[in-house]
Amino acid sequence: MNRQRHESSWRWDGTQLLDLRPPADAGGNGRVAPSPYQRLLTHMRYLELNAAAERLKEELDEGSRKKLSASLILERLLAHEVAATQARRLRTRIRTSQLPVGKSLDNFDFDFQPSIDRQLVSELSTLRFIEEHRNVILVGPPGVGKTHLAVGLGLRALQAGYRVQFVTAADMVAHLQSAHDGGPTALSRVRRNFYVGPPLLIVDELGYMPLDRSAATWMYHVVSRRYEKGSIVLTSNRGFADWDQVFHEAVAATAIVDRLIHNAVVLNVRGRSYRMKGLQATATGEIGA
Ligand code: ADP
Ligand code: MG
Repeated sequence: MNRQRHESSWRWDGTQLLDLRPPADAGGNGRVAPSPYQRLLTHMRYLELNAAAERLKEELDEGSRKKLSASLILERLLAHEVAATQARRLRTRIRTSQLPVGKSLDNFDFDFQPSIDRQLVSELSTLRFIEEHRNVILVGPPGVGKTHLAVGLGLRALQAGYRVQFVTAADMVAHLQSAHDGGPTALSRVRRNFYVGPPLLIVDELGYMPLDRSAATWMYHVVSRRYEKGSIVLTSNRGFADWDQVFHEAVAATAIVDRLIHNAVVLNVRGRSYRMKGLQATATGEIGA
């Protein structure tokens, strides 16, 4: 984007001339012609290849020390730029996903929660479910790690280059309702950018608060638009049988559940709350033992 701004504001006035001919010896004007190295560095800075520019000297030195070919030196140099661009894009995707920080599949303690099928989580972490537009439903009592697992899968998806959106069920319906109040353009923008567009939508905490009729409609709206087109990872503290209480209405609940669970992977997480881990350890005298 920056680069385009540069290009469009760029005007030829002769002073930007970067002479591509090999430099002649310093002329009679007393100025020393820039070395090929300095000119290369200038080109790279102009093109905003800053990560590669940082490594230019090092790679050239190593290239001549190890007698590497010119194409290998160039490839190694550009690999730094590619890595920096990928890292920058990942940071942007993580920020816009609104994924909570600090939770990943790598720091999930599977030993603490033996009810979780590790094989299944490992299969999910290949992200094939996203390619197949399947949903993942994590059901279980509070504190057992449903959100943590959902976020861990989201992080894997971001690292693999997918766009991901994380939201609680309550925030999503409130956001859609207020976008709707803002008119059809606002609604379609919000729907596209946040809830229908991203290949992976994580809807956290369905069931903690009952949703009224219009909230249920918004939930149906998202689930039906994503049906067989994009994946939803959903966490809930209520089993499907209780969902008519969540939505106040059996008809809405059935319509939503039908689409959500068709072809879905359902993970029933049972066990102790991780939040109580320390308390239980204290109670049984495990701490300091
Ligand atoms: P839930 O969504 O099921 O209510 P959370 O995923 O929010 O539970 O877990 C509660 C807290 O405990 C979070 O901080 C989470 O990171 C942590 N946690 C839960 N289970 C585990 C686990 N097995 N290993 C590591 N941390 C865990
Ligand atoms: Mg949770």
